[in-house]
Parts: sequence; structure tokens; C-alpha cells
Amino acid sequence: MDLFEYQGKQYFASFGIPVSAGDVAHTVDESIAIAERIGYPVVVKAQVQVGGRGKAGGIKLANNKDEVRTHASNIIGMDIKGHKVKRVWIERASDIAEEYYASFTLDRAAKQHLLMLSAQGGVDIEEVAAKDPTAIVKLHINPIVGLSESVAKKAAVDARIPTKAQDGVASILVKLYGCFVKGDCDLAEINPLILKPTGEVHALDAKVSLDGNAAFRHPEWEAFAATQELDDREKLARDKGLQYIGLDGSVGIIANGAGLAMSTLDVVNQVGGKAANFLDIGGGANAELMTAALEVINFDTKVRSIFINIFGGITRGDEVAKGIVEAMRRVSLRAPIVIRLDGTNADEGRRILAEAGIAADKLITKSTMLEAARSAVAIANGKAV
Ligand code: GDP
Ligand code: MN
Repeated sequence: MDLFEYQGKQYFASFGIPVSAGDVAHTVDESIAIAERIGYPVVVKAQVQVGGRGKAGGIKLANNKDEVRTHASNIIGMDIKGHKVKRVWIERASDIAEEYYASFTLDRAAKQHLLMLSAQGGVDIEEVAAKDPTAIVKLHINPIVGLSESVAKKAAVDARIPTKAQDGVASILVKLYGCFVKGDCDLAEINPLILKPTGEVHALDAKVSLDGNAAFRHPEWEAFAATQELDDREKLARDKGLQYIGLDGSVGIIANGAGLAMSTLDVVNQVGGKAANFLDIGGGANAELMTAALEVINFDTKVRSIFINIFGGITRGDEVAKGIVEAMRRVSLRAPIVIRLDGTNADEGRRILAEAGIAADKLITKSTMLEAARSAVAIANGKAV
């Protein structure tokens, strides 16, 4: 679960990491009330789960009530890279002497935690990595040993953080690591981590992703979960109890099993297409489930073809075929289906589909995953089947 900046900052604060005083607002009036309470100047910050808010005009400094009104009314409702701004975070503006970068993630290959630290913060870390990889210090941390203040300080020295900021940075790194481990994060990132002219070090932004597998020991996460924003397709899928993730492409995907669904996305990608979604219908594939799956995919206006990829194990091919035939009676699809059906009772399934009297341009059967992917992508790209 990805947190909004304001939630990430609240989470940071609960682990002792210094953040600016602030509060979250849903309206212009609330924004003004918060600014009046914390004192000027303030920063009005769009709360959307996407980077580069500053460049998109979603972060503005306000010196008085009128400026808060102007900026808050511009930013609330703004669209940033497809994310609609519903809330703003109003915080006391900070004077910035320098901007750094710090993050903790899990390095699965190394089976250790990974600290990344750079004296060049405030910009995309990918940009820094591309321009000057030596500007980023990467340090593995053995989770059993943990991170001491002295090791953190050495990392700050290695990252060429100036002497006056090294202790402050080291202290925040130890706290951020505590947040990452005890707070069960997949990612805890501060960009920028700032040095103020007064010498204090302070988190100016927060990017936190929580490990959903640890939710059972964090009842406090429920408040975060309540604000998660699903797109309309995902809402519909959730209401129907489907394992669905919305993506940006034009090939709708239905597969049984998460592994096969992921491979299907890969194969579609490999032959030059883009998936519109991930959808795992799991073991059962009756008419109810297939109808629900096709309804959700049909709701997505970007979808140009639907690739159904089924490998029958427990799922039986004849059941799947009956489900598809019945679902096609119930749902009037805007895009054709390309199906690859294999495994248990696949022959029977293909016979049912062939005898159902569905127009040849509405349902195309292919015998391999690759052929089916090629066909679905060709249709999605407006080419012949
Ligand atoms: P992002 O663009 O979505 O990563 O949003 P950030 O929270 O990282 O803010 C982007 C940039 O806005 C920062 O790198 C700062 O340069 C600037 N900024 C944000 N808050 C303040 C502030 O309190 N004072 C000043 N002077 N600049 C700020
Ligand atoms: Mn940032």
C-alpha cells in the first residue's frame, strides 16, 4: 500500500523523524484555516501518489491568506499525470540550504536491506543515477545486525554530505531505518532530505510503501487503507470480487492463476502490445465469474481486444468455454476475444466454442499463447487478425 505524502510524514513523525508542522485540507477554506494556525509562509502541496508534483504546478509557496486561497483553489481538483487532486497538505515553509536523498528498500537478490544516499537530492534519483552513478552511495544492511549511528555516519561521509550535516543525516538514517523495519515498509524514501541554513536536517517529502503482508500487526494502517484511491475499473472489479489491476494498454487480459496472468502480460509486451489490465480469475471459471471479468474489461474504453489465456488444471476447459459462451450472451462486448485454451478438457472446450455459433470476428481461437498474443495485439493495433 502506497501512502500519500501527508500520511508518510505522519508515519515518519511517529518514528521520531523531523518533518514540518502541517495538516491536510480538502477545501480552500480548510487550507486557509490551517495556514492561519501554523503561520506564514506555508507550502501548499497536492496530495497525489505520483512524483514530480513540483514541476506539474502542484507545489506552491504562499506568503499570506490570499496566496493560500489562490494556490489551494488552483491545486484542488487539478489533474497531475492522470491523478485528480482531492487533498492538499499545508505545511510551514522551510528555508533550504541543501537537498539530499535517502531511501531504504529490500534488495531481494542480496537478501539484505539497501540504503541509498546521495548529496544530490530534490531531483529524480533515476536522473542522478544516469548522470553520475558515483553520486549515490549504496550500502547493504544485514537485517540481523541493523544500522548503527557510526555506520550511518560513514555512509554520509562516503556520499560527500558536508561535515556540518553529517550527524543530522546519520541520526535521520537510523530513525528512517527503524521506520522501515519496525514500520514494515517496502520503501521508505526522503527526497529531498534538507539541510536548513540553521544546520538542522529535516524530511521535506515522504514516499512510503507499506508491506501488505504485515497489515495484521498494524491496526493503525486501517486509516491509511481508507483513503486508498482505486480507479473506476478497479472499484467495479473489487465489487465483483475479482483480482484485477488496471493498466494503461489496449489488450484486456483474462487468465487463470497469477503466474499465468503475469506471463500473459509479458508475452503481450514481447510482441509489441500493451496490457490494459491484470486479471486473475483463479481456479473457477464459471459463467458468473467469466461474465464479471468480461464486464470489468468491457467497462475500460481503451480496450481494443480481449486475450483470454487459460491453462486448465483444476479449471476445466469445457467449464471455461461454457462460461465464455454464456458471458457473451449476457455482455455485449465492444472488442473481440482471442482465446488460447489448453490443459484439462481443452478439446471439449474448443468444440463448445466452435459450436456456439459466435461470429468468427468476435471470437478467435489460437492454439498457442504466442499466436494468441500476436493476434490480440494485431487487433488492438488496428491490424488484421
Ligand atoms: P515532488 O516534486 O512531488 O517530489 O515534491 P517535493 O515535496 O519533493 O517538492 C519538490 C520541491 O519543491 C522540493 O525539492 C523543493 O525544492 C520545493 N519545496 C517543497 N517544499 C518546500 C519548502 O518548504 N520550502 C522551499 N523553499 N521549497 C520547497
Ligand atoms: Mn520529492
